[in-house]
Amino acid sequence: MPTALIVGASRGIGHEMVRQYRLEGWRVIATARKQEDCDELAQLGAEAHQLDVTVADSIAALAWRLDDEQLDVAWLVAGVYGPTHGSFPTGPEFDTVMHTNVLSSMRLIPVVAPLLADTRGRLAVLSSRMGSIGERSAANGTLYRASKAALNSVLKDASITYGAQGVTCVAFHPGWVQTDMGGAEAGLTPEHSVRDLRATLARVDASANGSFLNHDGAPIAW
Ligand code: NDP
Repeated sequence: MPTALIVGASRGIGHEMVRQYRLEGWRVIATARKQEDCDELAQLGAEAHQLDVTVADSIAALAWRLDDEQLDVAWLVAGVYGPTHGSFPTGPEFDTVMHTNVLSSMRLIPVVAPLLADTRGRLAVLSSRMGSIGERSAANGTLYRASKAALNSVLKDASITYGAQGVTCVAFHPGWVQTDMGGAEAGLTPEHSVRDLRATLARVDASANGSFLNHDGAPIAW
């Protein structure tokens, strides 16, 4: 039975990932920062661990729990949008968004990626097209955009380090998805986005290592 790790599974895209992998019979290890969300994930058949991705000790505790695991896929999903005002961020706004969207992956990838090496598995981060510099034509959400551009840089570095160990590392745009972050007007249901994301990650081979892909597999400019 293949094993998936989903980091940030309390709601939205991460929660749907857990639901779909479980439906297909996968073993799922999932994280959420609140105990009640872990309890709910356990009801779905996941092995749930409490994790706040902004807390280094919390990541260290997860590393200890995952010791000796072999994973086939890992999705780093947890993220925040941050301020919606049009000006540059305050220091606390910057810290919250950058710690959640960037520093967390810098800390989690060295914990998770080695667990994918023996299976020649796949590591995916939930980035956003809003982080693309090459495709940029609007400046709203400037802090979120900067955080996802930085996350893409982190993913690219991971692809160099862990690609050499057989791990395929990919940054994904999930589409504009109907979640708390995406809002009700979004064009894609979580079911549709996650179906695409899972199928795309399942079919890519090592040549996709270090790429930035739409949920349907179309390449996105960095
Ligand atoms: P939601 O706002 O619905 O869910 C965000 C998830 O991240 C929740 O599970 C939340 O947990 C978790 N999270 C946030 N901060 C932390 C933290 N410090 N520790 C642990 N978990 C945390 O977002 P989506 O499901 O829509 O988004 C998932 C990912 O996809 C994000 O990275 C987002 O940037 C990206 N994305 C989404 C798009 C969309 O249209 N929805 C478009 C492009 C990218 P909790 O419940 O505890 O707050």
